[in-house]
Amino acid sequence: MKITGFETAALNVPEDEPLANMPEEDGRTRPVVTLRLRTDAGIEGLGVTFYGGKMSRSLKVAVEELAELTVGEDPLRIEKIIGKLRDGTGDACGPGGIFTLAMSAIDIALWDIKGKALEQPLWKLLGGHRDRVPTYASGALRRGLTDDQAQEAASRLIAKGFNQMKTQMALPGNPTPADEVRRVQVIRDVIGPDVKLMCDINQRWRPEQAIDIGVRANDVGLFWLEDVTAADDFQGLARVRDALSTPIAGGEYLWGIAPFRQMIEARSVDVPMIDILRVGGVSQWMKVAGMAEAFNLPVVSHVMPEILCHVIAACPNGLTVEYMPWMLTLFEETPAIENGELVLPTTPGLGLKFDEKAFALYKA
Ligand SMILES: [Mg+2]
Repeated sequence: MKITGFETAALNVPEDEPLANMPEEDGRTRPVVTLRLRTDAGIEGLGVTFYGGKMSRSLKVAVEELAELTVGEDPLRIEKIIGKLRDGTGDACGPGGIFTLAMSAIDIALWDIKGKALEQPLWKLLGGHRDRVPTYASGALRRGLTDDQAQEAASRLIAKGFNQMKTQMALPGNPTPADEVRRVQVIRDVIGPDVKLMCDINQRWRPEQAIDIGVRANDVGLFWLEDVTAADDFQGLARVRDALSTPIAGGEYLWGIAPFRQMIEARSVDVPMIDILRVGGVSQWMKVAGMAEAFNLPVVSHVMPEILCHVIAACPNGLTVEYMPWMLTLFEETPAIENGELVLPTTPGLGLKFDEKAFALYKA
């Protein structure tokens, strides 16, 4: 089998909040680049990438320039192709940034092709540890809400059947530590003691602040505290982790696989979180999962549940899938949630089809 061509699209996807209907700002959109990688066997692989922001046109061109290098190659030889992409672009635009975001779209499409060629769903091809995975609602309980709105959103998520959900601290304005703790406590009051509640700080605290507020929030029973300080401050994170009994999650901001080695060796986190676009695609995601397993650590995914459910289901240390609904409307159908778990597809590859109607609507 040979890769024969490709097609990309630039889309502006609405930043709706369908889980609890709490949009941050009406009409705001997120730029996304999509890829279809075509083969002489008639099999087409799908890829998606984003985080390009104001450089999203450059990201689209980067995907196209890398995709050109794949034409004529055997799509089942993924590491050979990734090596060719690295060699073909030198050090001019890597190892992080746009190069990796573009390479990840290609790697995802190659794995979709491999699954379709071997007639297996991706989660089975990668290890097939289980066919359902826990998932948590994300993006609905943001820091910008009032306490009342946060409680309203949390009860909507419960009504939808979620038994895991994520909120945020590092509230806007000048919150006192007591204000911060009150926010997670009012949500806990609504959801009860048994629902898993995660909390993201998005790198906004100093390590000493994280320790102070983390200790005060101990009785709320958070499932994890995420990105409590600068993501590459591995020593600062380790200091926070040592001081708190609440597990510390982090890793979504790291590029490639090597920083995960540093982060894990420094004992910075209890729960490595791997972003598929920043790490370099499915291939690199699975390598970090294996690295974490050797350190007796679980792994969790970051955004795109319709794709990341496959890698979490594949590996024995996959803990839960972030159900962030950013990209769901790009596809005709996405995995269903039953009893708080994502049901993995039985169709080959990613089991996803782009929705042509959405593409026409979102065209940039
Ligand atoms: Mg996060």
